[in-house]
Amino acid sequence: MNDLPYILPLEKWIGNANLPLVVSGPCSAETHDQVLATAHALAKIPAVRIFRAGIWKPRTRPGSFEGVGENGLVWLRDVKAETGLMTAVEVANPGHIEVALKNEVDILWVGARTVVNPFSVQELASAVSGAGVPVMIKNPVNPDLGLWIGAIERFSLAGIKKIIAVHRGFYFFDRSPYRNAPMWEIPIELKRRIPGLPVICDPSHICGEREKLFEVSQKALDLEMDGLMIESHINPDQALTDKFQQIKPEELDRLLARLVIRKEHGNKEFESKLEELRAEIDKIDAELIHILSKRMELVDEIGHYKRDHNITILQLKRWTDLVKNRLERGIQSDLSEAFLKKLLDIVHSESIRRQTDIYKNRNGAK
Ligand code: PEP
Ligand code: MN
Repeated sequence: MNDLPYILPLEKWIGNANLPLVVSGPCSAETHDQVLATAHALAKIPAVRIFRAGIWKPRTRPGSFEGVGENGLVWLRDVKAETGLMTAVEVANPGHIEVALKNEVDILWVGARTVVNPFSVQELASAVSGAGVPVMIKNPVNPDLGLWIGAIERFSLAGIKKIIAVHRGFYFFDRSPYRNAPMWEIPIELKRRIPGLPVICDPSHICGEREKLFEVSQKALDLEMDGLMIESHINPDQALTDKFQQIKPEELDRLLARLVIRKEHGNKEFESKLEELRAEIDKIDAELIHILSKRMELVDEIGHYKRDHNITILQLKRWTDLVKNRLERGIQSDLSEAFLKKLLDIVHSESIRRQTDIYKNRNGAK
């Protein structure tokens, strides 16, 4: 698809462009009382505009609570009638969409486990085609920006203009302090690739536990996300799903009140000072590129020299000494060890790649 999807700006259908959009509600609808009590408490928080509740739950293992199903749609109608909040449910097949729309759910969302499958996404997009219903699209479980964009395109091609992307982190086996690692560069790149697309963050599924919610929410706003989806439950400790990450509505109220909402632009004096500092960075980046290219020229020269004298590409001792020496220097200059290690690693792999090319091309020009 060459054309960018046409996405209606949030303020044209949600309003209140100055406030981050807050979506909240339980991970799962469990009982009529739980849903209604949570919704009434959330409706007192002005930033909360959309009430979410899962009624068909995609569970990793069979045999656990899989949602209350269609009954929950009646409860959501009550939420709408009694609180005026917009309602949202996760849909995973065309049958879900049919009954959700029949019961006047306002917004549908596609979960992370569904977005990984283009067949399912296309079935859902075809099923909403013409309905004009807003759709929230979570990132796929794995860090694949193409799949996320593909899902947005499929709904856009089906005529949906009210689309919100939801960043809920990416699953890694045992590699992150989060339930799903945020990998912020991915939603940032998504915003760059589809300008004007509203992107909200779901700190609940990123964190997996309550304690980190504030920090991740603040970071999301500092990175210009347009809102937050945070799971809430009237009695989180008794929740049937995701109990460690859900918070009470009053805790959500306190969390939102603590968030600092920063502006994208400052006053004239601020902007000109920023321009000055950025000009310096631009100069330094140009020097960095020049220095890197000089280094690679030397790498090539060494490559030719070693090849012509039948010496192996890699001399492990030289590399070990070099890393040790550069780390010491870098740390003295206030650079972090993790950063230095990554930097040395990519410089080294690029050097090896260039020298490997030189060795392959035995008779090539020097
Ligand atoms: C949810 O929002 O409850 C959910 C199942 O989320 P995800 O698809 O992000 O795992
Ligand atoms: Mn959940």
